[in-house]
Amino acid sequence: MKNYIIFKKIINKTIPADIVYQDKIVTAFKDINPQAPIHILIIPNIFIISINEINENNSYIIEHMFRISLKIAKKENISQDGYRIVINCNKNGGQEINYLHMHLLGGKKLGKIC
Ligand code: AMP
Repeated sequence: MKNYIIFKKIINKTIPADIVYQDKIVTAFKDINPQAPIHILIIPNIFIISINEINENNSYIIEHMFRISLKIAKKENISQDGYRIVINCNKNGGQEINYLHMHLLGGKKLGKIC
């Protein structure tokens, strides 16, 4: 099974996930292997394999993903202390699931990566 199928199944709720937000454009759910007290993945409802596929026709989705990340950060009470948004891309960027996703991490002081 291609690994992006997992995220498709989470969107249409055919496998269980802790969904914290969903609208017509995105779905957000808790990461199964959290790297911080708050670790939420935000994904587009339409399949986009990676950030490499963003163009002028679908960039509204990225904007929406950022807006919803901020909304969730506020709801989770991490916006004042701070948080990190990460998008891994392909092999060298450490992308394991081939379905575009944004990591929202917070709830502790995160180690610097750059
Ligand atoms: P990446 O390494 O950027 O591709 O991130 C993939 C993320 O998906 C990892 O942090 C995994 O822990 C997470 N993940 C994989 N399968 C699931 C799942 N079924 N539910 C929630 N998170 C998942």
